Amino acid sequence: MNNFRWAITIFFTSMLCGPSAHAFQSSGAATPSKPLRPAAIRKTIKLLKPIHKPLEDPLPGEWLDQHKEKGQTFAQYVKIRPNVLSHRRNKLYVQPIGDFSEKQTELIKLSSDFLSLYYQCESVILDAKPESSIPDSARRVHPEWNVKQWLTTYILEEVLAPGLPEDAFASIAFTEADLWPGKGWNFVFGYAMLRDRVGVWSINRFGNPADSDEAYLKCLQRTVKLATHETGHMFSMQHCTLFQCNMQGSNHLKESDKQPLGLCPQCHAKLLFATGCSPAKRFKDLAKFCHDNGMKKEAKYFELALEKVER
Ligand SMILES: [Zn+2]
Ligand SMILES: [Zn+2]
Repeated sequence: MNNFRWAITIFFTSMLCGPSAHAFQSSGAATPSKPLRPAAIRKTIKLLKPIHKPLEDPLPGEWLDQHKEKGQTFAQYVKIRPNVLSHRRNKLYVQPIGDFSEKQTELIKLSSDFLSLYYQCESVILDAKPESSIPDSARRVHPEWNVKQWLTTYILEEVLAPGLPEDAFASIAFTEADLWPGKGWNFVFGYAMLRDRVGVWSINRFGNPADSDEAYLKCLQRTVKLATHETGHMFSMQHCTLFQCNMQGSNHLKESDKQPLGLCPQCHAKLLFATGCSPAKRFKDLAKFCHDNGMKKEAKYFELALEKVER
């Protein structure tokens, strides 16, 4: 158990969700293709604030108990010249890698659809690459857990980065195998190279979606939350320290499970700045998706948010 926790903590600290990962560089896309007026964005912050809860003190072992982060307001976000959608780079590519079960394949397709609605841009799901595309040099069986693992650096540097399409805002791989980033590591949930706009995440630890309807729903909720949180980082969003929000950091599944799928007013403003999308259309799309896929609590939130911005 100690090893498990250790690995998660190290992963978030050093790889994807910690300070080092937030040394963002602009992708060169400094202006959204359809920028919204700052006044219109600030208005949504006011409208959405009443339906969001401030962050409570972290429990022992939770992310903010172990990591001192300053957070990032909307104003601070704009100042860093964040990565945003542009005419040239405006698609999210999803690359499945591995021999997925039928249910897992469904979940990845749904997650790709959800990403498209969440960031209001086109998502393109690529043909799955088979497990045999991972060479022996980039795989191992964990010495203590007897779990199949693939090397994140191989997937990022040899598979995703060289094949990054010109119109890609980012390229994201999902794997069915567990992941590890190299010598001295137990495992990671995922790993991203933000400057290269590529990331890889495993759904291996999210449960077996074929076990039951409940397990399928839990797996879907976890997969869409992971995908949208990590893509948020690719849009230069740092962890949220103000509200209960999808951009909160988390140390383990229990902590991320209790975090909402929606963005707080400040993080939502960042998304509007980065994508230039209509907040009402976005909330409507997300409410429909959640309603259609049994995500009742999430559908209710997006419906409420829609009411607020339509006023
Ligand atoms: Zn994070
Ligand atoms: Zn937030």
